[in-house]
This record gives sequence, C-alpha cells and structure tokens, in this order.
Amino acid sequence: MIVDPFEFLVTEDLTKKSREELESMFLEREDGRILFLGRIPVASLYATFLAGIYAELTKIVGKAAKGLILTASRNGGYRAGSAIRRRYQKKFGDLTRDKAFQIAKNMITVWDKCFGWGKFEFELCSDKIVVKVTGSFEAVGYTKLKKGKSDTPICWMLLGYVWGLLEGLLDCRLNGEEKKCLARGDEFCLFEYGIGD
Ligand SMILES: [Zn+2]
Repeated sequence: MIVDPFEFLVTEDLTKKSREELESMFLEREDGRILFLGRIPVASLYATFLAGIYAELTKIVGKAAKGLILTASRNGGYRAGSAIRRRYQKKFGDLTRDKAFQIAKNMITVWDKCFGWGKFEFELCSDKIVVKVTGSFEAVGYTKLKKGKSDTPICWMLLGYVWGLLEGLLDCRLNGEEKKCLARGDEFCLFEYGIGD
C-alpha cells in the first residue's frame, strides 16, 4: 500500500527518524529535480549564498533588509503552515495546539536532517515557544563569508520561516525575535515566539 507522505507528516513523531527514513518518506528525485511531499520543488544552496544576498541588499536598502527578508520568509512559512492546517482539518477535523506543534517540529526535522538547516530543539511554554538551533546554516554561512562576527543576530530566513510556519499551523499571531546567534559569537541561535499580546 502506498502511504501519502502527508499522513507521515501529521500522524507521526518524526524527530527521531534518520535522514534515510525521512528522505524515503518525503523526497522524490527525478531528472536531477527534488520534490518535497511529491510536488514541491526544493534545492540546496551554498551556506554562504544567503549571507551574500543580505550583504548586497543591506548596501542598497540599509537596515530595511532585515525586515524584507523576515517578511518574505515569514510569509513563506505561513503559506506552508496554513496549507497543512487546512488539509489536516479537512481530513481529520480539529487541529489541537499540541498536534500543530508536533507537525511544525516534524516539518523542521525534514529541513534539518535532509537539507542541513541546523539542529533544532523546540520547547512549548505557556506564554512562548522557544527554538534552539545548533549550527544554523545561515549563521555558519555568514561566518564563512565574512570571516568575523556580526554585531546582531542574522538568521533572518530561519527566524522568519519558523515564525510563519508556527503561525500558520497554530492559526494565531506570534511575536518573534532571535535572542542569541552563533554568528554573533553565541554558542547557538535562540528564537523566541511570544504567544498572545
Ligand atoms: Zn543565528
């Protein structure tokens, strides 16, 4: 029997699965293309690539660069999260907060293990969601490109994508901030997403 990969994403805990298991569940390769969930084209890039884009964008628009990248990434995450939520509700009914949170962890586990985004650990507290990232590829890319430390946290894409993904799945607005960053000299990156006003 062929199982729809969406079922794996929303019914299992994928955080302990190996890269091989996840790739066989979620990725299809054909003619050099990689499709996620059977239909979404994905690709890997040099870790330094985003840092290079941010540097050029910052030259042109200054500090607005962060807002632009963050908004685009948050929108991308939101589209993914809300699409999963709607599909889940259509098929299984009510999506609880715990289940939505598990699905977000599952999604990020695939990006982590199959595409090297970094090692993510999630903690759901009463008033916030805390996400610890070890070896963020954005921070590693920055450090490689700049050969030095940043004054401020720079994982704009990861912060934004996880932010939007959580908002789309939980169907609520969150306040996100990167509190620690490997590129700034911290031991790891730390994202906090406040729940409520
Ligand atoms: Zn960072």
